[in-house]
Amino acid sequence: MEDYFHAEAFADVVDRARWDGYTSRVVPNTRRLLHLLASLNVRATFFVLGWVAERFPDLVREIAAGGHELGCHSYWHRLIYKLNAAEFREDTRRAKDIIEQLAGQPVTGYRAPTYSVVHRSAWALEILCEMGFTYDSSIFPIRHDRYGMPDAPRAPFRFQTPAGPLTEFPITTFRVAGHNMPVGGGGYLRLLPRLYTRIGLRCAQSEGVPIVLYIHPWEVDPEQPRLPGRLSSRLRHYTNLSRTFDRFRSLLEAGNYTSFRESGLAATAKDFDFYAWNQRYN
Ligand SMILES: [Zn+2]
Repeated sequence: MEDYFHAEAFADVVDRARWDGYTSRVVPNTRRLLHLLASLNVRATFFVLGWVAERFPDLVREIAAGGHELGCHSYWHRLIYKLNAAEFREDTRRAKDIIEQLAGQPVTGYRAPTYSVVHRSAWALEILCEMGFTYDSSIFPIRHDRYGMPDAPRAPFRFQTPAGPLTEFPITTFRVAGHNMPVGGGGYLRLLPRLYTRIGLRCAQSEGVPIVLYIHPWEVDPEQPRLPGRLSSRLRHYTNLSRTFDRFRSLLEAGNYTSFRESGLAATAKDFDFYAWNQRYN
């Protein structure tokens, strides 16, 4: 849960110090999603940006009152691999405290900005555990210019950090010719044809990989102000905004989705020697 001007695609033209100067759209957009979820009786996990929680406390309370789970999406939406451990700890603590206070529930799940848990930032997972998180859902097992661990396990796994156990819920992929392909979430749901999504989800399901859907509030908002930026960023960010709400609704209607907290998926996570495996890539 973040605003349109928080997206990494515009980080080079939008200065964090000026976020307060942009017209926020996150409240109506999130409410639209909340209504959809309520109408289908689906509970979700909202990974909230601390900066947003601080400015829109009632929205966080509303999400909690709807029976949804609150998770943490950092405070400043910075890429973890550009931070050091102290900066990461401070940012995460700040966001977690704000969200917990507003929601009146412990925040135990983390979703990194731009899926920035990669091989060289895997140190962050131990810090999450140290801070009381029981799970992370930031590893995307694909090849991508900004994120990805293409060889990571594709189904939930559990491992021991020096601070205790942590469960990882990787984002859903399916296999094509020996490669992992992303499916069903965010830009992939928006930009790729419906047929691709349908086939991809079916493939993942037949492999027994649980389906993790995700969406940003700004992805259902065709009226959001247009920001300058690179052409590739604008294409990625603004294409099919008017179609995404219906696509997302179709997915929810066709499946049986719930929040991470209520999914029971943690119990299915397989033990995996994450650190030994990660060492091979660093
Ligand atoms: Zn984000």
